[in-house]
Amino acid sequence: MENLEQAMKGTREVAQLVRGQATSDGDGVKLTRVIGGRALADLDPFLLLDEFGSESAADYIGGFPSHPHRGFETVTYMLEGRMRHRDNQGNEGLLVSGSVQWMTAGRGIIHSEMPEQEAGRMRGFQLWVNLPAKDKMTAPRYQDIAPERIPVVHAGDGALVRVIAGAFTDRAGASTRGPVSAIATDPVYFDVSLPQGARFEHDLPADHTAFLYVFEGQVQVGDRAAVAVRGDLAVLASGDAVRVAAPAAAARFILVAGRPLGEPVVKYGPFVMNTRAQIVQAVDDYSSGRFT
Ligand code: FE
Repeated sequence: MENLEQAMKGTREVAQLVRGQATSDGDGVKLTRVIGGRALADLDPFLLLDEFGSESAADYIGGFPSHPHRGFETVTYMLEGRMRHRDNQGNEGLLVSGSVQWMTAGRGIIHSEMPEQEAGRMRGFQLWVNLPAKDKMTAPRYQDIAPERIPVVHAGDGALVRVIAGAFTDRAGASTRGPVSAIATDPVYFDVSLPQGARFEHDLPADHTAFLYVFEGQVQVGDRAAVAVRGDLAVLASGDAVRVAAPAAAARFILVAGRPLGEPVVKYGPFVMNTRAQIVQAVDDYSSGRFT
């Protein structure tokens, strides 16, 4: 019985390693699509993960001119660079290096996301998180999080954990909650930096979907020490504890988890609903100017 329990509640191993594909979106912004492309179409409740990063303005200067969203959430984490967002309801803000925007599009917004720099490095992630059927037509909501509001926890061995969403609990049992609140899928979003030789361990609810994406260096994941290198997304199997080590090199990764919805997903570009009829309605509402 104890063995069975351990087997069910053990370390999360790597279920699948995924490499993103180079593509472009918006007005020619070059990016790597890790979730939402051919390699990994969907990872319930996560619909898309893009990594962007370039020193060359030509790769990002076109930005993302005015476009709609309905039925899900977009999460932008800027590692470096400045991006201004504006929407059709008069909301506006500037995303600076280290900031996060968690936007719940709900029933619909039309916005633009444009670089506010003409040179220098632009680097970060955009994640799309699905909304449950009951919340798809909720009122739009923004959580614009300035960098100084994101706690940085010293997690032992020189490891640093930036807690964007969810709660990080250290080895002594002290808990630090991230600033993003009241999200339907109860997400965890940590940015973890490990110096060479450091280890990272954290519990997650066993039934939550979880992945990590390595964006610097390389790590070993789980008791089987599967190697994930820069640009690898590791989908984590069920279990209650994530264990990561960086024996070969310093590393940095995002660890993201959330409650799967288990509901039908019908995607059409920037609209993600549960049925075809709802997609037809979304297209009609948008083209008729009802996204106001
Ligand atoms: Fe957008």
